[in-house]
Amino acid sequence: MSEFDVSDIGYESEGPEPALPVVAVVGRPNVGKSSLVNRILGRREAVVEDVPGVTRDRVAYDAEWQTRRFTLVDTGGWETSVAGLAAMVARQAEYAAQTADVILFVVDATVGITDADAAVTRVLRATKRPVVLAANKVDGGQQEADALDLWNLGVGQPFPISALHGRGTGDLLDALVSSFPEVPEGDDDRDGEDGPPRVALLGRPNVGKSSLLNRLAGEDRVVVDSVAGTTRDAVDELIELGGKTWKFIDTAGIRRRFRALQGADYYATMRTGTALERAEVAVVLMDVSEPLAEQDIRVVEQVVEAGRGLVLAFNKWDILDEERRIYLEKEIDRQLSRVSWAPRVNISAATGRHMERLVPAIETSLNGWNQRIPTGQLNNWLKELVAATPPPVRGGKQPKILFATQAGACPPHFILFTTGFLEENYRRFIERRLREDFGFEGTPVHISMRIRE
Ligand code: GDP
Repeated sequence: MSEFDVSDIGYESEGPEPALPVVAVVGRPNVGKSSLVNRILGRREAVVEDVPGVTRDRVAYDAEWQTRRFTLVDTGGWETSVAGLAAMVARQAEYAAQTADVILFVVDATVGITDADAAVTRVLRATKRPVVLAANKVDGGQQEADALDLWNLGVGQPFPISALHGRGTGDLLDALVSSFPEVPEGDDDRDGEDGPPRVALLGRPNVGKSSLLNRLAGEDRVVVDSVAGTTRDAVDELIELGGKTWKFIDTAGIRRRFRALQGADYYATMRTGTALERAEVAVVLMDVSEPLAEQDIRVVEQVVEAGRGLVLAFNKWDILDEERRIYLEKEIDRQLSRVSWAPRVNISAATGRHMERLVPAIETSLNGWNQRIPTGQLNNWLKELVAATPPPVRGGKQPKILFATQAGACPPHFILFTTGFLEENYRRFIERRLREDFGFEGTPVHISMRIRE
């Protein structure tokens, strides 16, 4: 067992950001779903001709219209089932209804309402999700009248469009976007604060934080102590390192000497918390001349819980003897294995050893923290992963992962849309593979589930 559990894998939209609205495109084969998907994505990418019998896996893409971002799920060609077209399309509609916030229902206006369209409509009506109806293949005035006929489906106004030529798709997308569930507006990344990257220098008392800060700042500044208990006077320092400016957060707490005071422990924890709130990345300093303490682990845990980038800095390397070094490596393996993704530097604030490695380590963590995987790429990757190693059966049922999106970065947060609960082991497996294949070095990664039964 590990010393602590830094699992922040939640389920049911517990992540730091809500998922983007999900739009599923449904309709029987050959109505032009793929063309419409391409039109919305503004590219012609790897989409197979939409003809009956051609199997294509459902795929999710990042899409955007008038600054509103959403996830577009192309339910594409489905396994043509023995039960016939109507049953197949109805199943597709059911799937879409499960996963999507809004359904984009595509009908071929030149053909009119078919049995399969009617079957889809029945399923969609039952779901009570907003449906936006696209009357496709309206390439000229002639078909406008055909489109009007689609009012008879009873799912509202048909939007006459030509997916091929782009005609009418603007109005369709306006309608689509306006049917999204309301979400509080807010920008995602970096907590909205610009300027130099913000670094918190953390660690229990005496590990060498002020020594390191002084070395980084290139001077032995004397900071006047102020009264204990005044925690609101955070002092940030701008320090130039590696040709770049960095903001070191709440350095007053580091430079001051509070640890002799009563309750210093509690104070340190609190101070760590407030520094973390404002930081993007934390350098956690540990003293290699002493055994790893519970307090060291707790600080690391706090960083992970706060969802910040993490660098592990092992200080006082100058006084480390060989015996202790071997023991230390074992301790690190045992107690810090859960953050094996964090870059590690072995330094000495006293001698300046490996100071030049600190900035690259911080940059690595910041990059991981900011990293994003496009939805299409993520789903292609996931499809292969799940095909090779499907989720374990649970309660006699095999949970399916329908698709995934990265809801945000800082730290990276993924949402898996599933048909059932995914065991923790399996989610960890996904996280491990994500890290192997995409990096995410130095950052916690959130994986949450959205179960659509
Ligand atoms: P802080 O409480 O984390 O700010 O720790 P300080 O910077 O005050 O350092 C605590 C003690 O460790 C001081 O006596 C420092 O001189 C000493 N120290 C800090 N860094 C090093 C180092 O790299 N090597 C050695 N040998 N001593 C260090």
